[in-house]
Amino acid sequence: MPEHRIVVVGGGAAGLELVTSLGHRYRKSREASVVLVDRSRTHLWKPLLHAVAAGSLDRNEEELNYLAHGHRHGFDYRYGPMVGLDRAARVLRCGPTVDDEGRQITPERDVPYDTLVIAVGSVTNDFGTPGAAKYAVPLETPDQAVRFNRRLINACIRAQTQEGPVRPGQLHIAIIGAGATGTELSAELHHTVRQMIATGLHRIKPEEDVRIILIEAAPRILPALPERMSAATADLLRGMGVEIRTGLPVSEVSAGGITLSDGSFIASELVVWAAGVKGPEVLRDLAGLETNRLNQLVVHETLQTTRDPDVFAIGDCAACPRHGHPNPVPPRAQAAHQQASHMVGQIERRLAGKPLEPFRYRDFGSLVSLGRYSTVGNLMGGLVGRAFFIEGMFARLMYRSLHKMHDYALHGGRRVVADTIARTVSRRPDRVVKLH
Ligand SMILES: Cc1cc2nc3c(=O)[nH]c(=O)nc-3n(C[C@H](O)[C@H](O)[C@H](O)COP(=O)(O)OP(=O)(O)OC[C@H]3O[C@@H](n4cnc5c(N)ncnc54)[C@H](O)[C@@H]3O)c2cc1C
Repeated sequence: MPEHRIVVVGGGAAGLELVTSLGHRYRKSREASVVLVDRSRTHLWKPLLHAVAAGSLDRNEEELNYLAHGHRHGFDYRYGPMVGLDRAARVLRCGPTVDDEGRQITPERDVPYDTLVIAVGSVTNDFGTPGAAKYAVPLETPDQAVRFNRRLINACIRAQTQEGPVRPGQLHIAIIGAGATGTELSAELHHTVRQMIATGLHRIKPEEDVRIILIEAAPRILPALPERMSAATADLLRGMGVEIRTGLPVSEVSAGGITLSDGSFIASELVVWAAGVKGPEVLRDLAGLETNRLNQLVVHETLQTTRDPDVFAIGDCAACPRHGHPNPVPPRAQAAHQQASHMVGQIERRLAGKPLEPFRYRDFGSLVSLGRYSTVGNLMGGLVGRAFFIEGMFARLMYRSLHKMHDYALHGGRRVVADTIARTVSRRPDRVVKLH
């Protein structure tokens, strides 16, 4: 029987866990081959991006190289962006890649498949707000997180060395969107900016010159999470000095700041957009596959796209029905992790000619890290029998466990234990802030 060609596009929280498992499963058999296609050469778990943006995490410490990981775990890696799809010929179209000097690295090429899994994640949704694309930095990729961090360091060094006093707005940071990403970023920045200033930038007075403003269109921060969690987090943030503005959407972003829908202006030269996600542009009209209004691929509970049973979608880019809920499965790391595990079983069933099984999302709760200050969360259902509010050390351990689960899926238990011991011994969790 010819080898079944499994191609996964996107090596993120969902796709990389999937190819790692499949690589192990089929590396020695002639039953199937596994190929990962990604437009990037390295993987960084996305929930760490706010720490990279704040400067408390160096991306190089956490990044994983696809080529080396594929070699170790039994899958092939193809470098390049998905730019199209021919469903009739069953080939994925990959665009070329070029280096910094514009020289081609990989040519345009076709990757044939028998089963295709699309796991290209999501992009920031700025809802077409004027000035957002030009003046606000999104947090979708490690490069964007590093770009924001550079802007922040440059702004502090400029303020330290300029002739006149610090201008109003010059060291203000406005974060648009108080979901988990924006909220975590505000707390992390509060700490790292002060640490940065304490490293010799004595002309800056943190209490007078630095403001961190968290802006949310909904009536409260963390609008998708339980009210108690939102209230506890807002109290902690206000206690630190983070300003919270809720109930008004942003109508414009400009070089000097943000205009809210009631016409009020918030001076801020550093703006992060962390409000909402949608499917990447490449999914629009992708070989006639169905998308929803957020440009996500619509899939059945089996994770198969509605118009092609050979094409699956998982993670943020998929709109997967959620059993017993009006809204689809949320775009979260725990959903990506669960869908990747379910997808391994689906492929095994597919190869064995057995019927596929529906995916059932289990919400284990939500955790929001406020950096070194605290962690808050609510644990749900299956884990403790009922919804449960947690805060502090226990919440922090639970928060770290989500990342550990991802590491476990990629590297196995021994490596995770060794890494945890190494971090504890070397005190790496207490990293100093990055200044370059
Ligand atoms: C700052 C931040 C903090 C977050 N914190 C949390 C949290 O605490 N808890 C939680 O549950 N969730 C959190 N999330 C959400 C979580 O990160 C996502 O839900 C999760 O990463 C989705 O996984 P994914 O595999 O679908 O996409 P991703 O992890 O984004 O991976 C997508 C992959 O596809 C590749 N790709 C994209 N386009 C193409 C293309 N055209 N061709 C080839 N490859 C492509 C990308 O390079 C990437 O490797 C956070 C997100 C952010 C941005």
